[in-house]
Amino acid sequence: MIAAVVRHIGSFRIEQVPDPVPAAGEVRVKVAVAGLCRTDLKLIEVGHRDLVLPRIPAEEVTGTVDALGPGTHHDWLGKRVYVYPGVSCGACPPCLARAGNLCAQMRIMGFHRDGGFAAYVTTPAASLIELAPDLDFESAVFAEPLSCCLNALELARLSCGERLGVWGAGPAGTLMARAGTARGAISFVMESDPRRCLLAGGQQALPEGITLDVAVPAVGAPEAYHDALHKLAPRGRLVLFSGLAPAAACQSVDFNALHYQERTLVGAYGCSYRHGVAALALIRSGQVKVADLISHRLPLSQLEQGLELVRQRAGMKILVYP
Ligand SMILES: [Zn+2]
Repeated sequence: MIAAVVRHIGSFRIEQVPDPVPAAGEVRVKVAVAGLCRTDLKLIEVGHRDLVLPRIPAEEVTGTVDALGPGTHHDWLGKRVYVYPGVSCGACPPCLARAGNLCAQMRIMGFHRDGGFAAYVTTPAASLIELAPDLDFESAVFAEPLSCCLNALELARLSCGERLGVWGAGPAGTLMARAGTARGAISFVMESDPRRCLLAGGQQALPEGITLDVAVPAVGAPEAYHDALHKLAPRGRLVLFSGLAPAAACQSVDFNALHYQERTLVGAYGCSYRHGVAALALIRSGQVKVADLISHRLPLSQLEQGLELVRQRAGMKILVYP
């Protein structure tokens, strides 16, 4: 099959590789759509904590089950699916606490295992979520980034009627704002690009003097974290959702700004299987609209052009078709 393969940090190549064979308990999925995410650009250009080389990237995948490994239930054959990208042990304390994303054995598709910039991926049947007949592959692929937003908002204990502020109206920030609105919050978006601001659902920027119950920088910029911290209301929560470059990750924080106002810092990374189920339900019901976020549809052979669009922030969501 044709696949995009990263052999060394800094580059990738479109190559012919052997078709993957599903192991026991696994299925092979014929990829319909793979979402291109800023993380893919990051892992190709500078690497990632969880990346093991050589690797086929892409953790946002929908498609059709076309082969089964030994012992996999035959009902899966031919099913249209979303692939939850994580595989966790299911038995450790984080797994038992329904936080499989924190499992020490976690293996993420596109990082530890091969992902969707290829004609086929293999995955444990336990990672599959079947798509409802009225849910298309393109909309369903947004379940991965939306799942990460739902995990973050859950950890931030966002509740109905609260004010949510999101820094950055790229695809992730926009989904975060929309997810917050779907959860009954009032969402504000901090974004200097007016086109992106409009796409983010027409939410206004935060008016002067208004504070936030939950603030989420969805850009990897330390200034956004500082700005967000100082916009928090008493008992407000600042969500550390975007990873920072290692050199920028150690920032000085005014801890008294937390102490006197009883504010909280909340870490959030990735998502669990159940967030995929919730995300697909929000997309299917229309509570979180996604179709208008698609700016480009590219064949796998044009992945480099897609990465350049991400680099230049020239698109919104870019979908890749193997
Ligand atoms: Zn575990």
